[in-house]
Amino acid sequence: MIKNSPVEMISFEGHSFYLKRDDLLHADFSGNKARKFYYFLENDFPDITKIVSYGSAQSNAMYSLSVLAKMKGWEFEYYVDHVADYLRDNPHGNYAGAIKNGMQLHVGRGILTPTNQNILYIEEGGRQKEAEYGIKVLAQEILEWQKENNIKELNIFLPSGTGTTALFLQKSLNIEGVVRGQHPTVYTCPCVGDSDYLKKQFFELEEDENHHPRIISLEKKHHFGKLYRENYKIWLKLQQQTGVVFDLLYDPLGWRTLLAHSEVMAKPTLYIHQGGVLGNESMLPRYERKYGM
Ligand SMILES: *Cc1c(COP(=O)(O)O)cnc(C)c1O
Repeated sequence: MIKNSPVEMISFEGHSFYLKRDDLLHADFSGNKARKFYYFLENDFPDITKIVSYGSAQSNAMYSLSVLAKMKGWEFEYYVDHVADYLRDNPHGNYAGAIKNGMQLHVGRGILTPTNQNILYIEEGGRQKEAEYGIKVLAQEILEWQKENNIKELNIFLPSGTGTTALFLQKSLNIEGVVRGQHPTVYTCPCVGDSDYLKKQFFELEEDENHHPRIISLEKKHHFGKLYRENYKIWLKLQQQTGVVFDLLYDPLGWRTLLAHSEVMAKPTLYIHQGGVLGNESMLPRYERKYGM
């Protein structure tokens, strides 16, 4: 069981925001990956003995799956295309954490056997329908908090990778909110591809466009995982002005995009901290080497 995550008030660049601290959900199982995998944590799967998944050797999803497997007493096999020599020689961040939790790492394509009843197969980044279960809990927490604090109109912002979290959040808020007369709007920005890619992802998970979040973006093209001086700068500023450590992959672009859209901030705005701070162990030294402290 994971508990309700707290909401704080922060001020950044002269604007006030509410901050949903999903990074504080649990010591090891936190952020949006905990929400997405909550279904597997909460329910019983008597036949399952092993999780199989794939993705990058630094991924937040990989680490969270290693925690889930440990909590459930399952094995965890993970497939990557390659592991950088530096990471293999100096394990750190999500990679080191997952290995410590017993992850068996395979380089190369795995032979996937989805017919095997003992294997729980998880898509890269947790992009699957079961994610809706835990994200609905997040939506309920937000609606409850909004009501308690008498916030009439609410905008919510979170940066997207696959878009799974943002999509299921808007959908759950619509479904749960309509009976309560609450109608928060979810805004998000693409961090991995462009707006068209994100829209496609939404359609794969949900046909009804009324349940899709609003996409906002910056004009300049952005490449996921690349180092940008502006991203490092805003990340440092966030820490100075709010005292909160954000992740270095999604949040800098998220905050830059949000600050460029004053029409969103015109209403009370809740930013969702989706965790991922363990991944900073690999990003931060790269930034420090490139731009200094
Ligand atoms: C995975 C992740 C995201 C992206 O989540 P999606 O559901 O794939 O859009 C954003 N922020 C952090 C910190 C993450 O770990």
